[in-house]
Amino acid sequence: MGAKTRWRTSFLLSLLSTAIVGQEPPGVKLSIVVYDSAHVGSKTTEYAEHVAGEILAKASIQSSWLAGPVQELGSLGMDFTAYAAKACHPDLGQATVRLQILPHAPAGLPAQALGFSLPCARSGVQVTILADRAATVSETAGPTFGRVLGYAMAHEVGHVLLQSDTHTTAGLMKGIWSKSDWQRAAVSVVSFSLAEARQIAALRGRTPDENVTQVASLKVR
Ligand SMILES: [Zn+2]
Repeated sequence: MGAKTRWRTSFLLSLLSTAIVGQEPPGVKLSIVVYDSAHVGSKTTEYAEHVAGEILAKASIQSSWLAGPVQELGSLGMDFTAYAAKACHPDLGQATVRLQILPHAPAGLPAQALGFSLPCARSGVQVTILADRAATVSETAGPTFGRVLGYAMAHEVGHVLLQSDTHTTAGLMKGIWSKSDWQRAAVSVVSFSLAEARQIAALRGRTPDENVTQVASLKVR
């Protein structure tokens, strides 16, 4: 497994928004293994990880990022089982999220999806990010390619942390991002809502959404 582990905690307190200061949820630690099947390169992936780590830190989530060997993906596989909501109980107390960056979208994925996640998967890769879709957003909506990747990572990891495919009308977990959303994301940190941060912090409380569906995804228009 890759050698790099970077805990991003140093700017946590200064990055907390005024809405969260004084009532921040308890910290959550998360390891994320990134498999760069798209060969976007370590410089870009590390920048994307920095962006995603900053977004997660605003919700009191300390993320540790590791580079995973791509050859491991074949044996890891993906768990597409459609678990009932009450069965969506991965042990998030010591969570590791496995994330792959693919060069192109698999057949059948909605045209605007930047990635997808398997919030209830018990094994294998839980998060898939699509490099070609991120490149298109970067070319048309403003943020750099690495920044779009970082947002897609944070959004899809968010589904895993929230054990939910639910989308909101604003913020990181908005399902369909407009050009103005991306322009905002290019110059600021769009993160989880306080309620979402608290839900993530209550992971051990095990209160998954009802009717969790199999695949969640972030789209752009
Ligand atoms: Zn989504």
